[in-house]
Amino acid sequence: MDGNTRGGGQSDALRNYTLGRTLGIGTFGKVKIAEHKLTGHRVAIKIINCRQMRNMEMEEKAKREIKILKLFIHPHIIRLYEVIYTPMDIFVVMEYCKYGELFDYIVEKGRLQEEEARRIFQQIISGVEYCHRNMVVHRDLKPENLLLDSKYNVKLADFGLSNVMHDGHFLKTSCGSPNYAAPEVISGRLYAGPEVDVWSCGVILYALLCGTLPFDDENIPNLFKKIKGGIYTLPSHLSALARDLIPRMLVVEPMKRITIREIREHPWFQFRLPRYLAVPPPDTAQQAKMIDEDTLRDVVNLGFKKDDVCESLCSRLQNEATVAYYLLLDNRFRATSGYLGADYQESMDRNLNQPALSESTSSGTRNHVPGSSDPHSSGLWTHYPVERKWALGLQSRAHPREIMIEVLKALQELNVSWKKNGHYNMKCRWCPGFSEVDDMLDASNSFLGDSTIMDNDDANGKLPAVIKFEIQLYKTRDEKYLLDMQRVTGPQLLFLDFCAAFLTKLRVL
Ligand code: ADP
Repeated sequence: MDGNTRGGGQSDALRNYTLGRTLGIGTFGKVKIAEHKLTGHRVAIKIINCRQMRNMEMEEKAKREIKILKLFIHPHIIRLYEVIYTPMDIFVVMEYCKYGELFDYIVEKGRLQEEEARRIFQQIISGVEYCHRNMVVHRDLKPENLLLDSKYNVKLADFGLSNVMHDGHFLKTSCGSPNYAAPEVISGRLYAGPEVDVWSCGVILYALLCGTLPFDDENIPNLFKKIKGGIYTLPSHLSALARDLIPRMLVVEPMKRITIREIREHPWFQFRLPRYLAVPPPDTAQQAKMIDEDTLRDVVNLGFKKDDVCESLCSRLQNEATVAYYLLLDNRFRATSGYLGADYQESMDRNLNQPALSESTSSGTRNHVPGSSDPHSSGLWTHYPVERKWALGLQSRAHPREIMIEVLKALQELNVSWKKNGHYNMKCRWCPGFSEVDDMLDASNSFLGDSTIMDNDDANGKLPAVIKFEIQLYKTRDEKYLLDMQRVTGPQLLFLDFCAAFLTKLRVL
């Protein structure tokens, strides 16, 4: 970090940050890395020179980007922490993305393996879906505008060309990059919005899986002809499901194009969909009302008044306290917790100081696979609370630690082995025949039979089956806790029987 180098105005405006090297140069000026002094977290600061911006008549673009990003809180949309205005410059303080543009990553790796492409695509779709739910169409989705954080998780960026959708209104501004632009965009036709992002996502998916563009030509009229005709080829190495999905996204007629909801339901997308992406995120108004208690405590510890912080957060004000709050929150929950090498697991240990319940609970550590993408998997998830179809949903007002102690006790009694991903999330494995569940099942004349074998997806029709499931404790909006159990593999009916036994152990039946 080289400190603040320019005139007094800049030093003063950026007094809360230590500026570092230049990360890149964009339309408006430099983007620099910086450290937020109060929290020690890294950020990227986009420096927009006002005069240059006015000369380029780009004021609208910059304003639009700021307006949109300020509203959004999503694990796959670049976070905007604050905007600092001076007469000379505007400083846009954003989340730092260590690995830069997805474009460079694809160029470096050539085509990606299907697993990795799917992980990235799932993240992109969830970010795009969030935009659409909040009435924003990105309109310029391309790998150059998708940044990668320190865990290779995607962050949608560059909302300069985005437009806020108005129900029933069509947009008529041709924008975006031709290679990724939908036919109706390059034809200058009226378009409602979301479908153009779907098309661009289809081109991105193709680029991820093939390492090339579906529509490309040095000659622009020829390129347009290909796009308007939907003329491209699918390489033979693509899997059957990918070959099914891509053409559904690259349908020339926008009304016949697959929707984001349908993409979500597509089996290629659904495969290994991380749990935090399995539910639509809440909208921005809901989010403003959710305050994370632990992060709030940290901000208060920095010297801010609790009531003031709460009020500012609810009113979505930008001030030193809310900037610190969001920086701390993001670094607590995001998959990319390794900004400064700090592990989320460690911070949870510090905060909760939970006693180890047994050998197996205390020894479980979180695996930081590059790109492992469930930002909340190691902790208590406060942001995506309800509206899920649970295999088992159990609500309680007890303290989360007490709930987990009861849960672990019940699991131990039922002879379940487990590995903790975090204090509130664990992977479990249960084999029937080794526990008192069997006695309970026998006693209740449970329906363990042929249907169980039919439903078993990994035991080749042979018993004894193994049930693998995950447990996650969520915090709901109204200060309750929701215990979720989700089957990963094993017969569904047997799992339900197990759930019944588990609930009995927890004394809730
Ligand atoms: P443009 O105006 O051309 O869209 P930007 O000003 O957004 O470009 O960014 C310019 C370059 O700075 C990007 O290509 C990228 O390499 C880098 N960059 C931008 N934002 C970030 C960020 N949040 N984290 C890391 N690098 C970034």
